[in-house]
Amino acid sequence: MRILLIHANYLKYKVRDKTRIAEDIPKEMMKGSFKESLVVFTAIEKEDETNPEAIIKNAIEEIKKVFNKVNADKIVIYPYAHLSSSLSSPEMAKKILKEMEASLKSEGFNVSRAPFGWYKAFEISCKGHPLSELSRTIKTEPKTKELAEKELESKWFIIDKGKLINPKDFEFKNKNFKSLVDYELGSLESKGGEPPHVKLMKEKKLADYEPSADVGHLRWYPKGRLIRDLLADYVYMLVTAEGAMPVETPIMYDLGDEAIRVHAEKFGERQYRMKNKKELMLRYACCFGAFRILSDSFLTWKNLPARVYELSTYSFRLEKKGEVVGLKRLRGFTMPDLHTVCRDIGQALEEFEKQVEICLKTSEDFEVEYEVIFRATEDFYSNYKDWIHAIVDKIDKPTLLELLPERKHYWIAKMDFAAIDYLGRPIENPTVQIDVESGERFNITFLEEDGTDKNPIILHCSPTGSIERVICSLLEKTAIEMGERPPMLPVWLSPTQVRIIPVAERHIDYSMEIAEKMRDNIRVDVDDRTESVGKKIRDAAKEWIPYVIVIGDKEVEGSKLSVNIRKTSEKKTLNLEDFILMVKNEIEGMPFRPLTLPMRISERINF
Ligand SMILES: [Zn+2]
Repeated sequence: MRILLIHANYLKYKVRDKTRIAEDIPKEMMKGSFKESLVVFTAIEKEDETNPEAIIKNAIEEIKKVFNKVNADKIVIYPYAHLSSSLSSPEMAKKILKEMEASLKSEGFNVSRAPFGWYKAFEISCKGHPLSELSRTIKTEPKTKELAEKELESKWFIIDKGKLINPKDFEFKNKNFKSLVDYELGSLESKGGEPPHVKLMKEKKLADYEPSADVGHLRWYPKGRLIRDLLADYVYMLVTAEGAMPVETPIMYDLGDEAIRVHAEKFGERQYRMKNKKELMLRYACCFGAFRILSDSFLTWKNLPARVYELSTYSFRLEKKGEVVGLKRLRGFTMPDLHTVCRDIGQALEEFEKQVEICLKTSEDFEVEYEVIFRATEDFYSNYKDWIHAIVDKIDKPTLLELLPERKHYWIAKMDFAAIDYLGRPIENPTVQIDVESGERFNITFLEEDGTDKNPIILHCSPTGSIERVICSLLEKTAIEMGERPPMLPVWLSPTQVRIIPVAERHIDYSMEIAEKMRDNIRVDVDDRTESVGKKIRDAAKEWIPYVIVIGDKEVEGSKLSVNIRKTSEKKTLNLEDFILMVKNEIEGMPFRPLTLPMRISERINF
């Protein structure tokens, strides 16, 4: 296959006449106009017929590589026979072109294809930068590097009640776990489409895309910001209770620093880089900052385990444009990251266990179910098999096990927890990892009891995963449960917890009076608009408000409050003190921040 890749400001084409080998096309393919595209002029050759699968795979890899380098918005596949003098059969050419398109689409790229076998008029404007015109010859034989990688492929098992089972032979009872296993083994059929949380985050006025920033960077409205702050408080509370010391470190690092450069190269291409006098990168996690602090500190065995915590507002990853979506995959995100310096592997395993407990607690507190993967090198597995099985027993559900023939990354073992979204795809949430490399690389040492200097083992733990993904899982969960129960956030995370609805204007003063009595510990507001009670109740439901109280003449005259409880769809009659107590019980032990919007709905901005 020969391809000519042009990074174009625009491409326009229009079909003129059919040749005898023309494919049948719908009307919309008769012409096309594409901006900011990578145009792939393609000729399928005779020798491609021997192994079309390989040729498609290799072509796509090449196209993706160039696409990511030039940062185009979309890909246009354009059949162009003039690139070769040894063309394949038209049937094969059509098949390969169509499959290239389908395969790129399934990976989330925005792809179009010009029709095969038609005379077309076209106009193209080439960008003219160094990478804007590239030609390639694609061969069928796989690259030797790929062969090498194949030999390093992982082995997969499911651990269930102490047994290792081949995933093919496992009887799945939980469809979420099956989705996770299929995804990890590469056999999940991609449903495509936008996950429902994207619509919800906008509709509930939590967050939205910011078109004036790069893709994958969001603006947060007051309600979304409040939820973020509560989640930040929540993780802070969890980790400091375990003895973590919060710190804050820079968001950009000098790639001239050897340790940082090697660590960054391991992470791969998806980095924001910039150059002034130095070559800098924006952090993709806050590991660097913690490591730099630790390497400049004097540590002794008595200090260990030492736990350093940072909430990385923000971390940056240059995810592929086609993969960036809502709160699930972003280019700028906030990750809680706990680093624990451990004296030896024994201490590391002990801490690991505690951190797994914390991860599981977040599942309870968010009312979100996680599926679990344990990944380890084969060496680690054979050395600590009993420990692994004991920890999986504690989780008390089938767990996917990935065994790596040798260590590829800085970790020798890690546990990943994932919620499953509405479309059946995992949302990677908490993680705990055992890092045996960074201690040495970043020159972190501690004084051992015998007077020698040693490199510690370091645990990385995000007890929740990124704050954005927590909100993503909460919203996806409401979409999954739609129809079974009224959608809502946990009460402690609901921006408004209690809405008071005065029936008429004469009830507003009393409504404000009881709202004032609650506001110290409860986020309460009053719908003082001149709307009907019915409309106000519907609006409160649209905002998923957990408790709604209607105030009329009877209530003003001193009778008990009638409260609509969203979670159970119950109606309860309570006096004010008992109601406050009920809400306080519901949110006990969880962080609280006051309402950050005007208490009177009539005074609010419509964002
Ligand atoms: Zn880390």
